[in-house]
Amino acid sequence: MSFPTRPESHSELHSVSAALIRELLPVVKFSELIDPPESCAVCLYEFDGEDEIRRLTNCRHIFHRSCLDRWMDHDQKTCPLCRTPFIPDDMQESFNERLWLASGISDFYGEYSPVATGL
Ligand SMILES: [Zn+2]
Ligand SMILES: [Zn+2]
Repeated sequence: MSFPTRPESHSELHSVSAALIRELLPVVKFSELIDPPESCAVCLYEFDGEDEIRRLTNCRHIFHRSCLDRWMDHDQKTCPLCRTPFIPDDMQESFNERLWLASGISDFYGEYSPVATGL
């Protein structure tokens, strides 16, 4: 895993977050799925055997890889169909840790640090 360039921008956290989510959601071929739905709820097109599918770990809904990636580009972190978060609750903590590590944003902790007054 590498983040070769780190543009100094505040949208960075979002892109890192999206990249991490993409890592966590498996991409499979439609033909490898057992008992899949017929069409994608994002674009409403029927799936094709060779289509790349992204399956949500949490609710197990599936969408075209490109459809879900575009959805995530709008900073969405929930299923387009049922609104279940991509990241299950029990994975949220480790996801955040990875996010902070990957983004290297130290002032992310700023609002949580105790205010030193009178010391
Ligand atoms: Zn689609
Ligand atoms: Zn869903």
